[in-house]
Amino acid sequence: IKSVVRITTGSQTLDELLGGGIETLCITEAFGEFRSGKTQLAHTLCVSTQLPLHMHGGNGKVAYIDTEGTFRPERIVPIAERFGMDANAVLDNIIYARAYTYEHQYNLLLGLAAKMAEEPFRLLIVDSVIALFRVDFSGRGELAERQQKLAQMLSRLTKIAEEFNVAVYITNQVIADPGGGMFITDPKKPAGGHVLAHAATIRLMLRKGKGEQRVCKIFDAPNLPEGEAVFQITTGGLMD
Ligand code: ATP
Ligand code: MG
Repeated sequence: IKSVVRITTGSQTLDELLGGGIETLCITEAFGEFRSGKTQLAHTLCVSTQLPLHMHGGNGKVAYIDTEGTFRPERIVPIAERFGMDANAVLDNIIYARAYTYEHQYNLLLGLAAKMAEEPFRLLIVDSVIALFRVDFSGRGELAERQQKLAQMLSRLTKIAEEFNVAVYITNQVIADPGGGMFITDPKKPAGGHVLAHAATIRLMLRKGKGEQRVCKIFDAPNLPEGEAVFQITTGGLMD
């Protein structure tokens, strides 16, 4: 039996909302409007995952699949310094790949699984998990096929999380609700439909607050406490 590891987000408030941090053995999804902090959380986790367990890290390496070209190695440097880590060593432990099609994204996962069998990884990031699907299956009548391929990808991610005791952090986009009255208070909802809703164990809804403040709420989890965490995006990554 593998025991779950919880990795700090850099914000104690957000960690508390999550019950200690983002968890291995499952998928954590973050969705929210542009600039809400999804990618900045990914960058912070790239570093905090490498912290020792007693510092709320995962003591492991990171795999980063980037579909939008928004990973910035230079952002890792001040975040590593904030945690008192050597930036070059931290960068060396991030395996990065840019994906250009959904098939490419899937094949990268197959290759990563082989690597994870050899080296201790504790985090896999896919930022964004759905962007390429929305491009590659943009035609009318392609939704069913898209959802089927998306389900395949997500089941691969779940398998990796469980087999290698890895935390999987994926980002998602929001789409305007086509109607039906379900989202009257917030006209946006996560993309990916029920396929993504079923795959993600924890769904984080991020939004902008005042200035550099961001607000996180756990979406659609009746068994978790309600509430919001307010955090800041800083040069050193997420903070209270
Ligand atoms: P998108 O949907 O466009 O991918 P996102 O949710 O991934 O958006 P991020 O890229 O994580 O958004 O957040 C961008 C925000 O992070 C910027 O608007 C800025 O406020 C903040 N930010 C980025 N870098 C820094 C930094 N070095 N110091 C402080 N804040 C920063
Ligand atoms: Mg982003």
